[in-house]
Amino acid sequence: MAKQCDIALVDCDNFFVSCERVFRPDLEGKPVVVLSSNDGCVISRSKEVKAMGIKMGVPWFQVKNQFPDIIPFSSNFPLYADISSRVKCLLAEFCPIQEVYSIDESFLDLTGFSDVWNRAFAIREACRRQLGIPVCVGIAPTKTLAKLANHIAKKHPRSRGVFSWNRLTDEQKDRIMASLPVDEVWGVGRRLNESLNRQGIRTVLDLVKADRAVMRRRYGVVLDRIITELKGEPCLDIVEVHPPRQQILSSRSFGKPVSDFEALANAVAYHATHVAESLRKERTLANLIQVFIETDRFKTDRPIHCPQICLAFESPTDNTSTLVRKAVQGLEKIVMEKVSYKKAGVCVSELEPKDQVNQDFFTEVDSPVICRVMDDINRRFGSGTLRVCRNDLKNRDWRPKTDNISPAYTTDFSQVPECK
Ligand SMILES: [Mg+2]
Repeated sequence: MAKQCDIALVDCDNFFVSCERVFRPDLEGKPVVVLSSNDGCVISRSKEVKAMGIKMGVPWFQVKNQFPDIIPFSSNFPLYADISSRVKCLLAEFCPIQEVYSIDESFLDLTGFSDVWNRAFAIREACRRQLGIPVCVGIAPTKTLAKLANHIAKKHPRSRGVFSWNRLTDEQKDRIMASLPVDEVWGVGRRLNESLNRQGIRTVLDLVKADRAVMRRRYGVVLDRIITELKGEPCLDIVEVHPPRQQILSSRSFGKPVSDFEALANAVAYHATHVAESLRKERTLANLIQVFIETDRFKTDRPIHCPQICLAFESPTDNTSTLVRKAVQGLEKIVMEKVSYKKAGVCVSELEPKDQVNQDFFTEVDSPVICRVMDDINRRFGSGTLRVCRNDLKNRDWRPKTDNISPAYTTDFSQVPECK
């Protein structure tokens, strides 16, 4: 018999809300939500909010009057990203093979450890004690089952946050699969779920017991792989390093409509700066830059104007000044006077790994010293401490609404919490 794999999925509980609570322990046990940009929709809910029946993605204005006790936060991504990387670093101490699957989920390959069960509890304990972040761990022979096991760990308090598929008898596995609707399976989306339901496949067990040949013919190789994984045979590998991204985008809706060119240029420069930082972090260079602005698509009484332009660099680059200059040039070409815009963004594409770029006379193979200094200073003293002058702080009317944002506790010295 093949040796048993122990794949763990570590998933942070309502991650954004948990990040907010790290610095606001007084909010433990209270209903808390985190909102999307411009305080639009609910994107993270505490347990208490879930219990009120409030669904993911509902507009905040529909909720806030009906439930005045809920405490809202504007999203604070610098905080969440920083805590996320602390969680990943901590997990690396427990397992060298980690696939960072999302901001709040990692797969760990615990195969070969003699103490998998205890290690899972140790992970949970360490995340809670050292970082203040509650996590659940699901263990199984495959990634798809680890996802299911994690779901069970979250739903059932008796599991104390850890659930192992590998400790179940065949009969217990069948009973659990018969109790779970098929759309709990990783990779079964709404449309596939509806189609499967029409075939009489409603539970996970129905799917596992379905006729393989029929399933393969009707739904193809992807569902076939899911079924194989549900039967406990791995077909999805742990991906430790994801291939570099093909494009990097930064865009945001404005807090209020903007028609002033300087303010628009400021927003575009802000996004170009952000993109340049990502390029340097990922050690890639961009060949193309696209700039776009949009009027409000929902204001039907006014003409809709959504121009965009794509410009090429003379040589691939990750230089902030070059990106900002090019982005503002692009903006000058597409902007119309006296039009109020609602959104702006910058996207770079045709990316190349820095170490593979042909070195000719014109290529900046290394980021100029000034960019490296900028990155260092901004890392130490907070994002935006040193920036190009177009990306000016005074001119920030366009910034999205963030009425309820918490401080950047961990990434900006001026906002570090103080003991009173
Ligand atoms: Mg989560």
